[in-house]
Amino acid sequence: MDVHEYQAKELLSRYGVPVPSGAVAYSPEQATYRAKQLGGAAWVVKAQVHAGGRGKAGGVKLADDPADAEAKARDILGLDINGHVVRKVWIEQASDIAKEYYLSITFDRGTKQPLFMLTTEGGVEIEQVAEQNPDALARLHVDPLEGYQPYQGRRLVYGAAIDDPSEQKQILGIVEKLYSCFVESDAMLTEINPLIVTPEGEVRALDSKFTVDDSALYRHPDIAEMRDVEAADPHERLAREKGVTYVKLDGEVGILGNGAGLSMSTVDVVVVAGGRPANFCDLGGGGDAQGVVDALEVITSDDQVRSIFFNIFGGITRCDEVARGILAALEQMKIELPIVVRLDGTNAEEGRKILADAAPPNLYVEPTMLEAAQRAVELAA
Ligand code: GDP
Ligand code: MN
Repeated sequence: MDVHEYQAKELLSRYGVPVPSGAVAYSPEQATYRAKQLGGAAWVVKAQVHAGGRGKAGGVKLADDPADAEAKARDILGLDINGHVVRKVWIEQASDIAKEYYLSITFDRGTKQPLFMLTTEGGVEIEQVAEQNPDALARLHVDPLEGYQPYQGRRLVYGAAIDDPSEQKQILGIVEKLYSCFVESDAMLTEINPLIVTPEGEVRALDSKFTVDDSALYRHPDIAEMRDVEAADPHERLAREKGVTYVKLDGEVGILGNGAGLSMSTVDVVVVAGGRPANFCDLGGGGDAQGVVDALEVITSDDQVRSIFFNIFGGITRCDEVARGILAALEQMKIELPIVVRLDGTNAEEGRKILADAAPPNLYVEPTMLEAAQRAVELAA
């Protein structure tokens, strides 16, 4: 789960990472009020959406008096930033910036360890630094069992060639606090970009991205509460409500498989067959009618979908049961889209026979995964 910048800053500040003070506003009038309340000489008005690059998209603006904060909030509220409509802004005391650095911890699945990255080339996308100036990017893994050791922080800071002693000291403090925050929040990503140095030499987090492991949210009710239901994709929201594992993609072939591995291969096979997957949807272990109805409801709620590809490999799940589930679902809900089914594994013969006997007009049964994918792609055209 991603949280907004202002929530990320709240989490960081709990661990003592320095952040500017600010407040949320839902309207231009509230923005002025907040600016006055915060005090100071200048403010920055920032769109709170789950999208990066807000600055370039016009979602981050400086204001030099509270009335100007209102005007800037009026410009930003309602703005569409990469498909995310701005419903709230964060008003912050503006910082003077001398330098922009970058500091993050991600979870490196390859090594199964948290990975620190630090560079003095901050403020831009980190991928760009990694590509164009890889030597400027200091990387450091932390063994999760040993935990963070101060010498690692020093290595990281020297690796990034930060040579000012006061900056070194402050960044070492932030590195250690960020690690505690990352581990104790069950985060998958905590990114500070930019980590700024003010003209007075003070280091603080100006922007932050924070992603928490969904599976660990149950032990962080305070973070779980930060979920912004309005900001989620409407199809993904429906899926969450129905307990369906679903990821929206942007093609035309709706995909339903049983098991995450098979569903992912199905996405690949549709691409190989020349099509574009509309989603990734995992039926999980069950194949009962209700599970199929729920999944189909989510998939058909996306009107970009032109055909549906049901890919089932029976193991513990029996194909005859899934076939009955599909027929029961089609009785319960009206679907006009073509549905292509491939059944293999436990009781596949029986399953295919059940579908052939019932023979709904929009149902196509194919013997192999590739043939089924080709048919689904053809029908989506
Ligand atoms: P992003 O574009 O979504 O990554 O949003 P950021 O919060 O990183 O802001 C983008 C850029 O706006 C920063 O890199 C800064 O250059 C600038 N910016 C943001 N806040 C301030 C501020 O308080 N003062 C100044 N001078 N610039 C700011
Ligand atoms: Mn940023």
